[in-house]
Amino acid sequence: MSKFTNRGVFLPLIKEPAASRPIEDITPPAQVVVPMLAGDGSNNQPVIKAYETVLHGDVFGQPVQAGGCPIYSPVTGVFNSVRNILHPLLGTVSCAVLDCLVSKGENRKEKSVEKLTAEEILELSFRMGIVDELDGILLASKLAAGRKLRNVILVADASEQEPYCSAAWSVLNESAEKVWRGLELAARTVRAKKYHIAVKLEKGNLKNLKGRISDNGLYQVKGKYPARVYSKKGGGTVCRIGVQACLALYLAAATDQPPCDCIITVAGDAVANPCNVRVPLGTTVEDILRFCGLSQEPAYIILGDAMTGITIQSTDIPIISGITCLLALKNLPRPPVHTCIGCGRCVRACHANLLPYEIMRRLDNMQYERLATLLPDECDGCGACSHVCPCSLEVTSKVLEAQDAHGNIFMKWGDGDDL
Ligand code: SF4
Ligand code: SF4
Repeated sequence: MSKFTNRGVFLPLIKEPAASRPIEDITPPAQVVVPMLAGDGSNNQPVIKAYETVLHGDVFGQPVQAGGCPIYSPVTGVFNSVRNILHPLLGTVSCAVLDCLVSKGENRKEKSVEKLTAEEILELSFRMGIVDELDGILLASKLAAGRKLRNVILVADASEQEPYCSAAWSVLNESAEKVWRGLELAARTVRAKKYHIAVKLEKGNLKNLKGRISDNGLYQVKGKYPARVYSKKGGGTVCRIGVQACLALYLAAATDQPPCDCIITVAGDAVANPCNVRVPLGTTVEDILRFCGLSQEPAYIILGDAMTGITIQSTDIPIISGITCLLALKNLPRPPVHTCIGCGRCVRACHANLLPYEIMRRLDNMQYERLATLLPDECDGCGACSHVCPCSLEVTSKVLEAQDAHGNIFMKWGDGDDL
């Protein structure tokens, strides 16, 4: 867990007009491309043969090895083929291509969730393969880990402190009551001492939301990015989950509906109609950008927000749980102008109290044996150091790279005994 010092950066907010618009449902694409990798990382294989039809929400993939999560079909469609895709978040992954058939949405009746036990909720979240959009981790794994902690403060984090994102806000605006009920279920599972939804909203929006959920259910986040999403008073272990995961948990419990779609903010100065859009999982970036329209050919496209997202080269990439923002921008980022000038801005920006420039220097100089003392593992990838760097260096990437540098053969060179 990060230390959350007073450091950090002030970021511009570029959330409009998407944030003020209701969620739009994407026109059903001709095809969706479904990675055969379930939320727990288990490989799946289709349960139907080529050219057979699967219904929206039915089991489409079963884990190859027993004990894994299944995959549910995000659309009603015909199983066309299997192909390998190089996905920026998954690596090379086998995907099933489904030709979409137009089908009427089903309104499932809600049943009471009051009597569900913690064990039943945990089992349900695993069986439904719900993935937390905050970090792409299986919700059941996070809840199971939370059950082992004491004095948990559970936070549904809708603070969206990055410049463009407004997907969490749009979900709250549309379904605040259901998100709250999902959070209650998660809190029951981890025996949370306290729980709340963290938001960063204008007064008017905050007031509207307050009327829809429990009085003490909201925490207004203040300060520099990345700011705390909980009050320091009271103590406890803070666990964060996403509002889309809360909604999916409630819908799974109340209506037996598996998560089949996700809400994504589509924005950037090359997008003609910036909005939050509901897309079936497996919809490609190309189809989403076509739906929102482009005002001009983007110079680059980012999967994720400006602070933590990654630039992608191909738009033939399916959306998976954990992606909540897609940016298309006109101008290329400034190229690095020179090497580090030692200005120290990255240090002042780092909320985890690290020395990003020094971690980067030691990594570049292959001084792996001395990296561990600089605690690169404490970095949460917030992107603040790269944001403030006057030389446009990719400081965050270097610090994250340094986390994996332990155990390298070069570590032995620094020990200097046997070699
Ligand atoms: S990304 Fe940079 S600023 Fe953020 S925690 Fe890591 S080193 Fe610190
Ligand atoms: S902000 Fe950039 S130039 Fe300044 S010390 Fe950090 S890495 Fe070096």
